[in-house]
Amino acid sequence: MSAKEGGAIIATRPVSPSEQPARLSGRRVSEAKLGSRGQSATDAAPWICPHGSHAGNGCVACYHAFSQADPALPTWTIAVWFTSERPVPIRVLKDVRRHGDRFALDQPSTPLVYLLSGQSRAATGTEAIAGLVGFLLDNRNIVDAFTVTEIRAVTS
Ligand SMILES: [Zn+2]
Repeated sequence: MSAKEGGAIIATRPVSPSEQPARLSGRRVSEAKLGSRGQSATDAAPWICPHGSHAGNGCVACYHAFSQADPALPTWTIAVWFTSERPVPIRVLKDVRRHGDRFALDQPSTPLVYLLSGQSRAATGTEAIAGLVGFLLDNRNIVDAFTVTEIRAVTS
């Protein structure tokens, strides 16, 4: 399924066997590029978490759910690219792994662009991403003003 509207591309698709080695067939990929203002398209339903938040805006409840996730749920490898109004100090980048357990915050080469990545169990990719962005909302000491530009969740 895909929708393209208002500058946002939303896609949730199975990875076909021709694209990936057979052992990865059945893997699910959920990814989206958000508009330059970080706002989602009006047709954002696939990215609304059970608490009513758009995954790209984050959900603290989804983040807190990570710690009690049912072991039967799929593990998602998740990545969120965001821009920050101010540089995040190196010390804070290094602290993220301690706060976020299995999360890492990296700075690609572009100034003020950051990549938050990690793994967690969640029922859907939407909840996995909402929770990862929710981690930022819940830890304003890391970054107080940010705009999510791209999100991705892949079952491993
Ligand atoms: Zn939520």
